[in-house]
Amino acid sequence: MLRFGTSGVPLSSPKPGTVHGIRRARELGLDHLEMAWVNGVKMGDAAADAIAAQAKACDLSLTAHAPFFVNLCGEPDVVERSRSRLVETARLGARCGAESFCFHAAFYGKREPAEADRRIRDGLAQVVQEARAIGARIDVRTELTGKPSQAGSLAELLAWAKAVPGVLPCIDFSHQYAREQGRHNTYEEFAATLTAIEQALGREALERLHIHISGIQFGPKGERKHEPLKETAFAWKELLRALKDMRVSGWVVSESPAMEEDALLLQQTYRRMK
Ligand SMILES: [Zn+2]
Repeated sequence: MLRFGTSGVPLSSPKPGTVHGIRRARELGLDHLEMAWVNGVKMGDAAADAIAAQAKACDLSLTAHAPFFVNLCGEPDVVERSRSRLVETARLGARCGAESFCFHAAFYGKREPAEADRRIRDGLAQVVQEARAIGARIDVRTELTGKPSQAGSLAELLAWAKAVPGVLPCIDFSHQYAREQGRHNTYEEFAATLTAIEQALGREALERLHIHISGIQFGPKGERKHEPLKETAFAWKELLRALKDMRVSGWVVSESPAMEEDALLLQQTYRRMK
């Protein structure tokens, strides 16, 4: 079973804030919400507890997106701040009842890929260790990123997940298409991605998968901007077909600017498929 939802509070929510967003998502018939903490995690424990209670009352699952300002491959002070942001996302996310959180692991910068990879693995291992030490029960997931200058290809995600126990992938299929210049846009290619995940991490990885989908535009440097599903060349219906045929379960987050409209479009299209 796939649960569909928005990234952030639905646009039609009458009031700001995640608690109201959860209620609105439930009214709309969505099953999930990703808390978009992309500009920083600023929340007290009482607010997190209120979110947890509301999500439970509405039977809405939650995930979180950690701040964008994370680079496990930067200078030592940047890595230190990145790690603390990630651990704080894990702590508060778990307190909200979120089952998973995702983040963009790093920029390569001027580092050699092998050196960048070593640093990222070290950083990930520390994040998992620190999150466990504070008892945060939440998936730690590196996201498939939209630009080749950002670490986070499918191959890298799977290698990190295999090498660092506790790390799992967040598969942004739209980013994969954008970072690879329009490849990965057919049923066969989507199915191949899912098969690669299953082969690397086992069937259970497909039974609890964190997925992002959006319309998207790309240029020579990869991702340019997200766009509504109705306007995009990204083959999201073929993707839904592959997810259905391979009986993938988990959370599908619409990162489209037409937030709930596109989350519902994905959900309805998926549910109508035999
Ligand atoms: Zn992201």
